[in-house]
Order: sequence, then structure tokens, then C-alpha cells
Amino acid sequence: MTPALIVHGGAGATTPPALQTERRSGLTAAFEVGWNILVQGGTALDAVVQATVTLEDHPLFNAGLGSCLTEDGTVEVDASLMDGSTFQAGAVGAVRNIKNAIQLARAIMTDGRHVFLVGDGAERFAREHGLPQVAADELITKRQYQRWQTLRLGSGQAQQTTGEPGTVGAVALDSSGRLAAATSTGGVRGKRSGRVGDSAVIGAGTYADSTIGACSVTGDGEHIIRATLARTAVELMRGGKDPVQAAHTALAHLTRQTEGEAGLILLDPFGRSGVVYNTESMGAAFRSEGRLVVRV
Ligand code: ASP
Repeated sequence: MTPALIVHGGAGATTPPALQTERRSGLTAAFEVGWNILVQGGTALDAVVQATVTLEDHPLFNAGLGSCLTEDGTVEVDASLMDGSTFQAGAVGAVRNIKNAIQLARAIMTDGRHVFLVGDGAERFAREHGLPQVAADELITKRQYQRWQTLRLGSGQAQQTTGEPGTVGAVALDSSGRLAAATSTGGVRGKRSGRVGDSAVIGAGTYADSTIGACSVTGDGEHIIRATLARTAVELMRGGKDPVQAAHTALAHLTRQTEGEAGLILLDPFGRSGVVYNTESMGAAFRSEGRLVVRV
């Protein structure tokens, strides 16, 4: 079976021209990391994790290093992943000192006792499982600090939900027909400490079922959670329905129910894909007719 992969870099406002080249190279690098795993016979799960790690390490995406800040000026990240063949999943919310939250989510999945850990308990789990920790301020870039200050000095502490994109995620189909999905984010700029968004919630930000499809979502977390958007989109592909059509229908549900804005990447077991959003733009990298397409 021919593998397939889509990587995304968040939905929202159009990426400022000055950042486009670097964001493009980040998405390209993440795609290549995941794609190399898949063409060498690796698993969809490894591909989505390593592609996501690459973007968490890139300072211009809102995940890991370069995450946006809470109203208190701290970084709290969310992430989740799902293996569509085993239905195993792992998720973390509001963790402060982990650069690669997706690896922590994977460790939680592998451990198997729980699916979703948050805050101090998730950080303790990371320590006990030998995952690298960083000082909380090591994840704060100058750029995000300045954006936080602008928000603080400007319109008070309002949470910004439809700003510059930067959440990251990936969906993959491996040569054995397994589907997997992963999502990671710093959340929304100016959020309350302790706020957990859709990216940490299985069924909302991330979902995979190898018999139907895999999905990673980005956008307004408070809306996406209520629409259980990732699972809704995957269910709309049941019976071999077209992923693009399924994504449009899922977004129509979201708009009708909550007026939220979002973007989705979808893959089905035949390798058909969908990259659909109702925001101004969405960053993504995927292959089309044998060639790499990268959008910022
Ligand atoms: N969905 C993310 C959240 O609400 C933000 C985003 O995708 O831009 O935390």
C-alpha cells in the first residue's frame, strides 16, 4: 500500500509575509521527517509523532518552543495522538516544562493506564518516564513575549482565538494500512492558566480509525470541543465517503452549532486526503500527484 501523510501548521489569519519562508521550510522539514519514516516501512504513529516533534522544535509554530503565552505570561501546552488500528490514545493538557508534548502523550499511550494527564501530574509522569524537561521560560521566544506584551498593553487580557496560526498536527497512512493522527499546541494567546483546548481532546482535536479515516484539527478550541469536530469529520467518511466533502460538512456543522472557525486535515484508508478550513489561511504540507505541496 502506498503511504500518505499530511502535516499542518495551524489555521487562522494569513501568515505575515516576513514569516512565510521560514514557516514553509518548517513544514517541508516536518513532512520529510514523517515521509522518510513511511517510505522506509515505518508506522503511521511514528510518522505523525516525528513530524509533530519537528514543528514543536521550530520557533515559528505555536507548539513546544515558540508557544503563545497565557494571560500570566507562561507557556502551557496541550497535545494528543491516536493510533487508528489499536484505538490507543494519549493526551496531555496544560503542561509547562515539556518541549515535546506529543512525546509525553505517546508515553502516556504506551503506558496504557490512563489516556489523558494534565498539569503537575503529567509533568511528574514525564519525570518518572525519563522525558526531557526544560525550564518553563525556555519555551518562550522573544517574538511570543512581544506578542503577549502587545495584547496585555492593548486590549487587556482578552483571549485571542482567531489570530495568527501556528498549532501543528499530522495524519498518516502507513504501508500496512494503519492510520494515525497527532496534534500539538500552545493554545490560544492570552488564555487563562489551566485552560485546555481541543488539541488535547481525543475526538475534538485528534481522531483516527484505520477503517474510516484520521483527522487533526486546528482553530477555535472552545467551539471545536463542543462540535467534537475530529470524530465528526471521520464519521462523515464512513462508507468510503470523500474526505474533502466530509471536511466541508463537518465545518458546516461547526459553523451552524457554534460559529467557530477551524481547519482540518483528513486521510482515509485509500490515501485520499482533505485539507479544508474556514479561516483566512491554513499551513499544510502534503503530496499531490507525486509532488510535495507546501502552503503557508
Ligand atoms: N485549537 C487550538 C486551541 O484552541 C488553537 C489553534 O489551533 O490555533 O488550543
